[in-house]
Amino acid sequence: MNAAVQRTETDVACTACGCVCDDLTLQFEGDLITQVGPDCPLAAAWFEPFRRPMTAGHKVQGQPAELEEAIAQAAEILAQSHAPLIYGLSRSSSPGQRAAVALAEQIGATIDTTASVCHGPSIMAIQMVGESTSTLGEIRERADLVLFWGANPVVSHPRHFERYSVDPVSELLPRGRADRHVIVLNDHANETALAAHQFVLVPEGQDYELITRLRALTHNPQAEVHPLGELTVDAIRKLAGQLASCRYGVVFFGLGLAQSRLGHLVVAELLRLVADLNARTRFVARRLRIPGDVAGADSILCWQTGFPFAVNLGRRHPRYNPGEFSAEGLLERGEVDCCLMIGSESLNDFSPQARQQLATIPLISLDYPHVRSIVPAQVRITTAVYGVHRSGTAYRMDEVPLPLRALCHSSLPSDETVLQTLQHRLAGTVPQPPILRR
Ligand code: SF4
Repeated sequence: MNAAVQRTETDVACTACGCVCDDLTLQFEGDLITQVGPDCPLAAAWFEPFRRPMTAGHKVQGQPAELEEAIAQAAEILAQSHAPLIYGLSRSSSPGQRAAVALAEQIGATIDTTASVCHGPSIMAIQMVGESTSTLGEIRERADLVLFWGANPVVSHPRHFERYSVDPVSELLPRGRADRHVIVLNDHANETALAAHQFVLVPEGQDYELITRLRALTHNPQAEVHPLGELTVDAIRKLAGQLASCRYGVVFFGLGLAQSRLGHLVVAELLRLVADLNARTRFVARRLRIPGDVAGADSILCWQTGFPFAVNLGRRHPRYNPGEFSAEGLLERGEVDCCLMIGSESLNDFSPQARQQLATIPLISLDYPHVRSIVPAQVRITTAVYGVHRSGTAYRMDEVPLPLRALCHSSLPSDETVLQTLQHRLAGTVPQPPILRR
């Protein structure tokens, strides 16, 4: 076999985080990865399992099973379900996401993505007030003021500084970091704060209050504002002045805002501030997306159903209602009777109540070989990994689609293949008219 053949793959896209850096170099010996560069702790961990041979690991009721048997069992569970849930998708890729929507439509399922426990509130805010935004490429070329609000990219997106936001040299920023000013706003000093030029300590849960003060000062620099905890009026005025006087500003915001209390309103206010700042200078906002293709899951769902997450297809037309059709809420209220999970690593983000409920209904998991579900699945099907075993498309955090290449051979099926096989098997077996389904 080709086990001893050594080769190098360049310009590999990494989907370990939403940066989707497409400049990696991987060394292979046969189908095994032996080296990953450049250095990134998350990328190293992501590619680590591919250093060893992978086993299929399909299971039914916890026992090893052939793929055929596992698919048959999964089809039977779905055929008997009256309120199925399809969830996950942020570690998949466009082909798998498209197949998941098609299956959801066929069986009248609710389909939701990990966005609903991450940046779902940000998506709702964008739907409410719009978004002044740009690609990471434009930010890299132009942004001389960079804010990170409620985020810690030094840990969550280790090469964000290097590739997009702080270090790159461009025609407009020839000295790289020295031509930029980096401000971190957070309720505690994190690793990114230590690497920034300036840290603004926002009193816990007071982001909205700070944003409204900054909006007031953007409209009228003489406006009277009040201090906010330890933040003095002078400090708030200084910050407002910095925002308005840059040539091109960007605020990257994270789950510290999106998952705060009434996160959609906090993010909406931030997006309004950014819109206001465009009367004074050029300013954009960007979400720091965590998993590698969660932006792709949003895009595919939007493209196919009109809505980005929390979509119910039980009545043959898409209904969108975060909360009502969010996976966590459906599980907590016991409103689904089976779950097809595409990437169960995100289960950790569910509430204990949702996880408990999940353990009481049939769970079918489509997982990458190295992923172990924390809730036992009735059927586990191990799938090939996009960007390593299969080609596909991943959407970077700025919604720029990037091609993923198949780098080595694997006999594992892709999730697209499994989902299309399920769709084929379930044709004509829907247990009751979809119109009656929730
Ligand atoms: S920053 Fe993210 S996408 Fe880039 S190499 Fe590291 S883990 Fe991969």
